[in-house]
Order: sequence, then C-alpha cells, then structure tokens
Amino acid sequence: MPSYRAPLKDMAFVLNDVLRLEKYANLEGFAEATPDLVAAVLEEGAKFCENELQPLNLPGDMEGCTRHPDGSVTTPKGFKEAYRKFVEGGWPGLTMPTEYGGQGLPHVVGFAFEEMMISANLSFAMYPGLTAGAVAALHATASDEIKNTYLPKMVEGVWSGTMNLTEPHCGTDLGLIRTKAVPDDDGSYAITGTKIFISAGEHDLTENIIHLVLAKLPDAPEGTKGISLFVVPKFLVNPDGSLGERNAVTCGAIEEKMGIHANSTCVLNYDGAKGWIVGEPNDGLKNMFIMMNAARLGVGMQGLALSEVAYQNAAAYARERLQGRALSGPKNPDAKADPIIVHPDVRRMLMDARAFNEAARALAYWGGLMVDLTYKAESEEERGTADDIVSLLTPVIKGVFTDLGYLNATQSQQVWGGHGYIRESGMEQFVRDARITMIYEGTNGIQALDLVGRKLGQNNGRALQAFFRIVGDFIKEHGDGEMAAFSEPLAAALKDLQAATMWLMEHGRKNPEDAGAAAVDYMHLMGLVALGHMWGQMAKAALDRLADGSGDRAFYENKLKTGRYFMRRILPETATRLAKLRTGAEPLMALDADAF
Ligand SMILES: Cc1cc2nc3c(=O)[nH]c(=O)nc-3n(C[C@H](O)[C@H](O)[C@H](O)COP(=O)(O)OP(=O)(O)OC[C@H]3O[C@@H](n4cnc5c(N)ncnc54)[C@H](O)[C@@H]3O)c2cc1C
Repeated sequence: MPSYRAPLKDMAFVLNDVLRLEKYANLEGFAEATPDLVAAVLEEGAKFCENELQPLNLPGDMEGCTRHPDGSVTTPKGFKEAYRKFVEGGWPGLTMPTEYGGQGLPHVVGFAFEEMMISANLSFAMYPGLTAGAVAALHATASDEIKNTYLPKMVEGVWSGTMNLTEPHCGTDLGLIRTKAVPDDDGSYAITGTKIFISAGEHDLTENIIHLVLAKLPDAPEGTKGISLFVVPKFLVNPDGSLGERNAVTCGAIEEKMGIHANSTCVLNYDGAKGWIVGEPNDGLKNMFIMMNAARLGVGMQGLALSEVAYQNAAAYARERLQGRALSGPKNPDAKADPIIVHPDVRRMLMDARAFNEAARALAYWGGLMVDLTYKAESEEERGTADDIVSLLTPVIKGVFTDLGYLNATQSQQVWGGHGYIRESGMEQFVRDARITMIYEGTNGIQALDLVGRKLGQNNGRALQAFFRIVGDFIKEHGDGEMAAFSEPLAAALKDLQAATMWLMEHGRKNPEDAGAAAVDYMHLMGLVALGHMWGQMAKAALDRLADGSGDRAFYENKLKTGRYFMRRILPETATRLAKLRTGAEPLMALDADAF
C-alpha cells in the first residue's frame, strides 16, 4: 500500500527561511500568520490528510463514483464522512474572505495545505478545489445579492461549486459555445444546453451544488465576445436561505475515465434551469477567467503534489528492494544483494523528482504569496508587480509542473519495476491521476500559447521585464563564494531565456506559426529559469542557516546537494530548448496534412 508523509519541514523552510513570511506581518491576514500559528495549522492539516484522506485514495480509485437511475451520484465509501470532518475542521474557509465566514489566512498558507490534500487524495481535493475557484469568481464579480445568497454556505463548505465551460463540440475554442440563456420576467434566465466533463458536477458530499455556467444571451455577438456567466444552483435558494425546489439541471452520465475515479466527471443537462447573471452581459469569459486562473495554479499544484507523493513511495521502495550489487562493490555484504538505491540510474530518477519537487514547492508558494500581494501589498507599484508576476507565471506553473509531475510519476513508477505496474502498489494510480493535469484547465499546449501569445506582450512586456529584473538582480547580488555554483548556471539559463525571447520577437511577429511552434519549448525554458531561481534562493537561505549554526545541519546540507544536482543536471536543458525553438515552424509544418 502506498503511503504519504506531509513534508512539513520542507514547507516550513520555504515559508520561513526562503519567503520569510514574517516580513509581511503588517499586511491584512499576515499578522495572524505567525510561524507558530502556521506550523500548528499545517501540522493539523497534515494529520487530516495523512490519516483521513490518504487511506481513501487507493480504495476510492478502485470503487469510483456511482450514478443512480434518478441521476444522483454517490462518491466512494468513506468520502462523505471525510468531507464532513473536513467541514467540521474549518478547512474549507482557511484562506477565504472573512466577511463571508472564512478565516482570511494568506493564500500562501492555503497553498501548503492544498499540496498536502492533493498528495493524499487528488480526487477528494478536487471537490473543495473547485468550490474555492467558484468563490473567488463570485467574490470578485457578482452582485451583493448573489454573494450574500451563496458565499457563506460555500465558504463553510456545506455547498460546493463547479465550473461549466466545456460542451461536446467545444473545449479549447469557447467561442463555439451553444448553451443558451433566455431572460425571464423576474430577472432570472432560463439556461438550456449540455455541458460535458464537469468535475464534481453531481455528488453526495454537500447539500447544494452551485454551478458557474458559460452561456449565450439571445442577441449575443458571435464568438468569445458573446459569452456571459451565470450562477445556477442545483437547488433553488429561498429568500430565508433555506433550500427550495430542485432546479432543472441533471446529471445525464458520469464518464468512465483513465484516472481520478473518485471525482465525478459529469454530463450536465440544463433544461430551462433557473440562473442569474454574474457581472455584465457578454463579460462572462473575463469573469470566468478569475476562476480559471485560480484553478490553473491549483492544477499546477496537482503536478507538484503527485510528483511528491510518487517520489516518496519510490524513495522508500528503493531503500528496501534488494537487486544486484553496487558498481563500486557490495554495500550490503550480509545479504545477497544491495538495495536498488545504490544504482546511479535509480538515483537519477529519484533525484530528478526530488530536485523538481523542492524548487516547484518554493515557486508555487512564491506564486501564492504574489496572489496575496496583488490584493494586500501597501503600494500600488508592489500590487501591480505582484499581479504581473502571477499573470506571467500562471501558465508556466500549470504547464511545466504538470508535464514534469506526470514525468516524475512515471519515473517513480519505474523505480518500482514490474511491481509499479501492479495496482496494489498505488504507483500506477499516481501516473493515471497525473495524466489529466496536463489536459484540463486548458491543455498544456494552450498554456504555452497563452504565455507566448498574450502574457509576454501584455503592457509592453512589463511582466517579463519584472521577471528578468528579479532573477538578474539575484544573480548580481549572489555571484560569489559558494553561491557561484548556483548563480553562474542560473545566469547562463537566463541568457538562454533572453535569447529565446529575442528570437520570438523577431520571428513570431513575422510568422505566427514560428511562435506557435516555439511556445512549449519557451514555456519550459521559462519554467527552468524560474525553478533555478528558486534553487538560488533556497541555497542562499540554507547557507545562511549553516553559517549562523541554527537548525538541522544535515537538512540544509541536503538542500545544497539537491540544489547543485538541479543546477548541473537539469538546468542545462535550457540550451536544448533554445536550440529546438530556434528551428521555427518549418520542420513541423513540412509534411502536407494528407501525408499524416
Ligand atoms: C476528467 C476531466 C475533467 C474536466 N473537468 C472540467 C470541468 O470541470 N469544467 C469544464 O468546463 N471542463 C472540464 N474538462 C474539459 C477540459 O478542460 C477540456 O477537455 C480541455 O480544455 C481540452 O478541450 P477538448 O477536450 O475539447 O480538446 P480540444 O479543444 O479538441 O483539443 C484537442 C487538441 O488540440 C489542441 N488544440 C486545440 N486548439 C488549439 C489551438 N488553437 N492551438 C494549438 N493547439 C490546439 C489541444 O491542445 C489538444 O491537444 C474536463 C476534462 C476531463 C477529461
């Protein structure tokens, strides 16, 4: 059976030594988030994830969700009870707005809890994850009446949320949406259409499900400019807040799928269901993007969290499994074989995952901190820079973390040899669960296009310049002594990224297919630089702690060893990415479509 231990020490290192959360104590929500309080919250969270959620992960995968003839859906055994404990523990409102009953802790702390939940049980974590995204979108864009009707119960966790974009003929290209919204005399709208692949679309965990639905008004312009956002509850809500009639939205089917079996993926049929518009007519895509951006960071976190749990199980197996002898001579002479962790190739798979996980955690939490600063930083300039960084890094975190999360899950499975292919090991579940993260919330190819086509050029490249400045300043300030092993490779990687950016500016404008061909390599190149920058910051923090003699020496020395591995064996991939993207579209487009 697989296991999971929350990496609390690594989390505390990022929050306290690298990001130094205490620096932000003057900001709303941060004053309460003292290192002691955060440690206590995460310790409790770890217990919940390790003891309640993780044991349900493998059985939940085997049992899956069940749809009944009346359209209701039940989650696997134990999920309802675990969700009840999740609500009783106050976990849904951890970072949510205080005016609606949340605890208002910084998002960066919420990110750490989210990582643990996903590592323990991705299918479970998706139910509250979607609710959190729906709360963010409603909080930012809905009328007070809608907010007062829905948010308190969603923040409490007794109602959940969903996101309804996809239709049978339209996934990436949302301009093709057909679902209709026809105004009624009472100010509501009648929503009619079919949405597919709706995560958590129907289940038995909450009393009500609040669907956020994209649909078109009768006179809407064509394409993405004619989409509006609606809130459509499963049960209508009476003026006193109690639940009323069942709305005309039903689950027509749940999908049989490769992974995340314990999360219900639903076909939802809207048959004149009552809905209310959120924000202005035809502004729906912009408003839904608030949910999608939050969800994209959350999906990036899924890549990291699955890579972490897969790595933990691979490392444990590698220390126990006896096969062959170390190339340098027996390490376990009393037995007939050495543990496989002695083999350099097994080390390669473990180190690749570990070096990614530790840097990705720092980058994701830094992203979480930037989300907080976007709203809470004191000056407009700081808020603007934080917003620029979040916007630039969102597609990178989503795309790169999930590509590498999947790769690390398969590499960790590989460490288990044939036993990793057997269901009971749990390793193949990590691979299957990780696979969807590269697809939903916009495929990774689309993330790369978002980065190259929209984010780079936004506000005349302001966000990119800010990113270059932050990394460049770090390199300049930390070029000497032991830090040279980090800043020199980072400088080379940054140069590759700058050269790739120049190439894109030169060629992408002239030939958009060159930009399209380069996008995924560019996204990975930027991801490598961002991860390398995090290793630089972690190395600096570890060296400082070693110099002042405080804390666990072995922990900081291991940080440095893992960081050097990243700098020497992973970061140089920026050169390959640069070389590939410079070939442009020609090699990709050379064959006639008929030749495929
Ligand atoms: C398990 C699961 C859960 C999901 N949950 C939800 C949910 O809760 N809510 C929701 O609304 N949707 C959900 N989805 C839908 C998901 O977001 C879409 O499947 C995804 O965005 C891709 O859309 P598509 O499947 O229609 O693929 P398509 O859009 O048909 O794309 C097919 C391929 O073509 C590529 N492609 C398409 N257009 C372009 C382009 N312009 N340039 C370059 N490449 C392109 C894509 O990258 C992809 O590789 C879920 C899907 C699954 C499988």
